[in-house]
Amino acid sequence: MTSAKTRKRVLSGMRPTGKLHLGNYVGALQNWVRMQDEYECFFEVADWHALTTDYADTSRVKENSLDVVLDWLAAGLDPQKSVIFIQSHVPAHAELHLLFSMVTPLGWLERVPTYKEQRENIKDKDLGTYGFLGYPVLQAADILIYKADVVPVGEDQVAHVELTREVARRFNGFYPATGGGIYKSAPPPGGSFTWTRDVFPEPQSLLTPAAKLPGTDGRKMSKSYGNTILLTDPEPVVRQKLKTMVTDPARVRRSDAGNPDVCPVGDLHKIFSSKETMAKVNSGCRSASIGCIECKGWAADALVTLLNPMQEKRKKYEQNPRLAWDILEEGSRRASAAAAATMNDVRAAMGMSLDFEAPKPAPGK
Ligand code: SF4
Repeated sequence: MTSAKTRKRVLSGMRPTGKLHLGNYVGALQNWVRMQDEYECFFEVADWHALTTDYADTSRVKENSLDVVLDWLAAGLDPQKSVIFIQSHVPAHAELHLLFSMVTPLGWLERVPTYKEQRENIKDKDLGTYGFLGYPVLQAADILIYKADVVPVGEDQVAHVELTREVARRFNGFYPATGGGIYKSAPPPGGSFTWTRDVFPEPQSLLTPAAKLPGTDGRKMSKSYGNTILLTDPEPVVRQKLKTMVTDPARVRRSDAGNPDVCPVGDLHKIFSSKETMAKVNSGCRSASIGCIECKGWAADALVTLLNPMQEKRKKYEQNPRLAWDILEEGSRRASAAAAATMNDVRAAMGMSLDFEAPKPAPGK
């Protein structure tokens, strides 16, 4: 494995919304697991972000945070390879958020597409808060406090990373690094450091290939639609959910030919089934030589094969949640150390270092 110092750094996170579903797995988690060997990864349980919309009831935040982490560990995130931490356990995020708030123009935040969208769509909560408007600034702080090079995102998050880049540029413009610059990158073996006048690098979005993952009703899998298959669903539940899943609407009778390309079950096969099974589905569905019940059974088999080992691994942590909490504490400690180094650069660049410095004599004295 490549040494951490020479690898690009990644920051990503999830809000603690409770147990994760297959959409979370395919949209992010699966990709994170793969990235661990190539990048130096920081994965954050974004519990403060949960408060931007759910500030009125915080009773489940801690429990949900633990649930998310159990699913991460079960799916293959490895604390030996990655830093796994809770945002609120690294208070420096809040300090950097405050400083970024000072330099971020309001117009930038009002133009963020998800801001307008969510204000229009979420009617059961009052989102007219300072925290909700400013959450992309908190996200910028989350990313930049680790000087992340890369942020894996879905399409809907690209605008947030762009805003992060603009915040970094604006900060760097106001406050160039002091003392001749700071290290831009650690040297390769035998190489030398490169220097920059910028405190923050501008992170790049790494677009996660968006597989179409439908829920049981055919719409995008989402907790708010109640159409999810959870990573923790036991086999009988998975099979039952598959049984009621919608199919190609043109296939009304068993004798009607269908089309896996317009069938949500067909989409599941494309993601989770083997090539051999996919070939059977394609020919059997199009020639009406298989029934939907049989086809759904094959999809359930593929899901159970994926989920069983995760659920086995999860059990170990469920039986002893202290193990997972220890991982979070250790991860938060490592994240705090990295964040503290950045905050030293930030304070020095702003002329607000915590060290005592004697006032400079006035010119001519
Ligand atoms: S056979 Fe399979 S792919 Fe074809 S319509 Fe039925 S469930 Fe969908």
